[in-house]
Amino acid sequence: MTYSEARKAQWKQPGYRQFMLDRMNGPNNPRWCGGRRLDKTTGYMMVRCFGDPTRYRAEHIIIAERSLGRRLKKGEVVHHINCDRADNRNSNLLICKIGYHRWLHEQMATAYAKEHFGG
Ligand SMILES: [Zn+2]
Repeated sequence: MTYSEARKAQWKQPGYRQFMLDRMNGPNNPRWCGGRRLDKTTGYMMVRCFGDPTRYRAEHIIIAERSLGRRLKKGEVVHHINCDRADNRNSNLLICKIGYHRWLHEQMATAYAKEHFGG
């Protein structure tokens, strides 16, 4: 048996294909922690890109894109509802247009000012 024949035979083994697929889907699995780190500058969780281990992508964007079923378009941003940038639970993420996002933060700043400085 040649090497390539052996490889082909391996793929026919029951469970092997699924095992390999699970391994490849690793970075898309929220419980996969192999290439996940906190970016201290931005406060975002970063996940290593599958296929390019030197690159990281923001985890909240990956999660948002997965639930949308497509890539984010230009001008779309992901807001963290509780303002914790490392909290990437689906329920904490809001996909919105950049203008709305800016407005949202202005509202939060106004509410904060009122709460802390009166008015
Ligand atoms: Zn925001």
